[in-house]
Amino acid sequence: MQRFQHYIDGAFEDGSATFESLDPANGKPWALIPRGQADDVDRAVKAAGRALWSPEWRDMTATMRGKLLYRLADLVAENAQHLAELETRDTGKIIRETSAQIAYVAEYYRYYAGLADKIEGAHLPIDKPDMEVWLRREPVGVVAAVVPWNSQLFLSAVKIGPALAAGCTLVVKASEDGPAPMLALAKLIDEAGFPAGVVNILTGFGDECGAHLSSHPGVDHIAFTGGPQTARHIIRNSAENLASTSLELGGKSPFIVFEDADLESAANAQVAGIFAATGQSCVAGSRLLVHASVKDRFLTLLKGKAARIVIGDPQDKATEVGPLCTTRQREHIDQLVGDSIAAGAELVCGGKVPEGEGYYYPPTILDCSDVLAPSWENEFFGPVLSVRSFETEEQAVELANGTPYGLAAGVFTTNLTRAHRMIRRIRAGVVWVNTYRAVSPIAPFGGFGLSGQGREGGLEAALDYTKVKTVWLRTSDDPIPDPFVMR
Ligand code: NAD
Repeated sequence: MQRFQHYIDGAFEDGSATFESLDPANGKPWALIPRGQADDVDRAVKAAGRALWSPEWRDMTATMRGKLLYRLADLVAENAQHLAELETRDTGKIIRETSAQIAYVAEYYRYYAGLADKIEGAHLPIDKPDMEVWLRREPVGVVAAVVPWNSQLFLSAVKIGPALAAGCTLVVKASEDGPAPMLALAKLIDEAGFPAGVVNILTGFGDECGAHLSSHPGVDHIAFTGGPQTARHIIRNSAENLASTSLELGGKSPFIVFEDADLESAANAQVAGIFAATGQSCVAGSRLLVHASVKDRFLTLLKGKAARIVIGDPQDKATEVGPLCTTRQREHIDQLVGDSIAAGAELVCGGKVPEGEGYYYPPTILDCSDVLAPSWENEFFGPVLSVRSFETEEQAVELANGTPYGLAAGVFTTNLTRAHRMIRRIRAGVVWVNTYRAVSPIAPFGGFGLSGQGREGGLEAALDYTKVKTVWLRTSDDPIPDPFVMR
């Protein structure tokens, strides 16, 4: 069994309690992980608070912070394969995807390295002749970053990168599921040379480690990615301290195929949108809206592609769909599929837990035309696609927006004017036209409605980790006039 350690105040520790992490490909324990307790959280937050005000970090130039981030980016790139293997082992996410994704995670750190000394304040043309007034962008403070189990290295990079660029310090809480790669990342952060306490990485359970961290009085901002239910806890927890929050939550994203779309290309994008990452993706295009005139043709194409998907060992490069991360997740998916079929949804393919070890679930398609199936409304976070057809553009928009979520949407059409109309009318933080599941450090990402608040990626994310300080400097040597009149 491999043993992993917490990273608190620049030191690696075993933790007073531990738990076993299971390999989703066979359900067997393979790693011993520290189970963060209130005391660990207290020490980590205290270290982050101390580091924030230490001359070593506070007085470091933004350019130097950028250099440390460049070093971290290089280390992530050099160790991408090792990190990918760990993530695959601990979460079941296929090696093809983790290898590519973690190599790209380095680009996120690089982007924020370059941005560190470009986060500018402003000078104001103030309406008083004897005053100079300017705005300083200062770090928001100690950031608690709480991430879910899918793509932890990626979802933490979009928090750690901009927060460090802005001069914040962090306590990162990895998910209790698949946490090993985050503790390997801690080694690289240490090697990059960040001062002790600037980044602390803890692992532990949500209701103990996570709850204590998000309600900690030493935390100024909580950057959370996870489900809406947990987000409500986070907001309640933050209330005591009035910490600000940024929330990246779930989705039930529409994937809209018009009759004039390139169906072959759209079908490939739909496979990427729902079966890649075994559907465990916040942007999963889990609701297919297809024009009635091409529905049968499109479903036949999709069914053929689903049948050819290689399901197997996530460490095998040929595998396209691996196991789900946890048995709990598989039970949730199987239950929702069963409930949806009971409600009248028609099973097009998949829908049955396979024999054998590991938390596998097959690519599944449910035709939900004319029925209100739970699969149409609820996030699965698994490889399950629900399908409905539409006749008009208005109907497509109504169905697409008929969800409290609003994370992403895909529109497939060759009609340019229609594409523009759809972009304007869809309620989602990201709209992809004739493509799906594309991301970049340069492009902000986030949701509307139950999909969250705030944006990750791009300059906007870095600004979210700053607060504006307004400075007034009087340039006159004359005595201050009437003290009873506000200037
Ligand atoms: P989750 O909400 O159960 O857990 C997320 C994190 O919160 C974990 O680290 C967990 O330990 C912690 N947590 C749980 N309870 C807590 C509490 N009371 N206080 C503080 N922390 C607590 O989510 P999950 O099941 O791990 O991940 C799946 C969800 O994440 C899905 O809804 C998915 O759509 C969403 N997600 C969103 C994005 C995005 O960028 N929008 C990306 C990936 C995943």
